[in-house]
Amino acid sequence: KRAGGGGLEVFSDWMLESALNHARLEMELHHALKDNAFHLEFQPLVDLHSGRPVRVEALARWDHPQRGAVSPADFIPVLEETGQILRLGSWVLENACMAAARWQRRHPELRSVGVSVNLSARQLAQPALVDQVAAVLSRSGLEPASLKLEVTETMLMDNPELSNLVLRRLKDLGVFLAIDDFGTGYSSLAYLQSFPIDTLKIDKSFVMGMTSDPGKFNIVKAVTALAHSLGLDVVAEGVEEQEQRIMLHAVGCEYAQGFLFARPVPEKDLAAQLGSLLRSSCDPA
Ligand code: C2E
Ligand code: MG
Ligand code: MG
Ligand code: MG
Repeated sequence: KRAGGGGLEVFSDWMLESALNHARLEMELHHALKDNAFHLEFQPLVDLHSGRPVRVEALARWDHPQRGAVSPADFIPVLEETGQILRLGSWVLENACMAAARWQRRHPELRSVGVSVNLSARQLAQPALVDQVAAVLSRSGLEPASLKLEVTETMLMDNPELSNLVLRRLKDLGVFLAIDDFGTGYSSLAYLQSFPIDTLKIDKSFVMGMTSDPGKFNIVKAVTALAHSLGLDVVAEGVEEQEQRIMLHAVGCEYAQGFLFARPVPEKDLAAQLGSLLRSSCDPA
């Protein structure tokens, strides 16, 4: 074992081991999709000025029988490789919209709280995506303006012309669009201004380092200015400390997401969590 289990060293060429792990992971994911072994958690995004929750991001979770909750960072890339991400992606879209329609219906104070859903590269490249989004909106009864779709720079720059076309058709439905993990990929500024995007989400690696690393702080400041000059709003991801919150507010970033405000929670705990954020905000109305 690479991590130092001892005894099996002779057989544990780590390349082989990771290939086996990978094959096993693929097989287990195949079963997990059949058995519906996934659930969603939801994490609020708040207005940095008032602290008011403005929307909620849906995050996929895999309940592994032995390993417990497996991070999407570990299973999304595997699903992406095998193409199975399309199945999980449809499931996430459907369930996130259904959940949002429920919290808006059941809790009048959450009527304006929309949902963000992460898309994968394969979903964006799939011609049926636009019809699928339209169908989910009509089935769930969720207003298009309550749905925001998150894509990454890398996904967009992979095929900018096609992405632009698909994003335009999604915009025509009335949904909102965000670029996730901004700053970690490579964006052409020419393309950036041509995509019909509403929001940049600054990657948490910049936000988490910004209080000690002036270089990271400068990136956060520059990305915020860039977004505003393109008419976009900005979300800072991974906000864990009060000091980050203060600095972000000072550079004019308007929204934040992070453990400082709220952790991802299952749907059953969401109304209580949003309620407490609402009560502690300085704009509870
Ligand atoms: P993301 O879309 O950038 O989501 C934000 C990630 O940051 C989440 O990790 C969230 O739990 C984490 N996070 C939020 N606040 C903090 C904080 O203050 N500190 C730290 N350290 N982390 C924070 P998670 O849930 O593990 O998801 C990881 C990534 O997996 C997501 O990054 C997204 O790219 C992908 N993902 C999750 N759900 C889905 C999905 O349904 N479909 C697709 N295609 N990708 C998904
Ligand atoms: Mg995201
Ligand atoms: Mg992100
Ligand atoms: Mg990410």
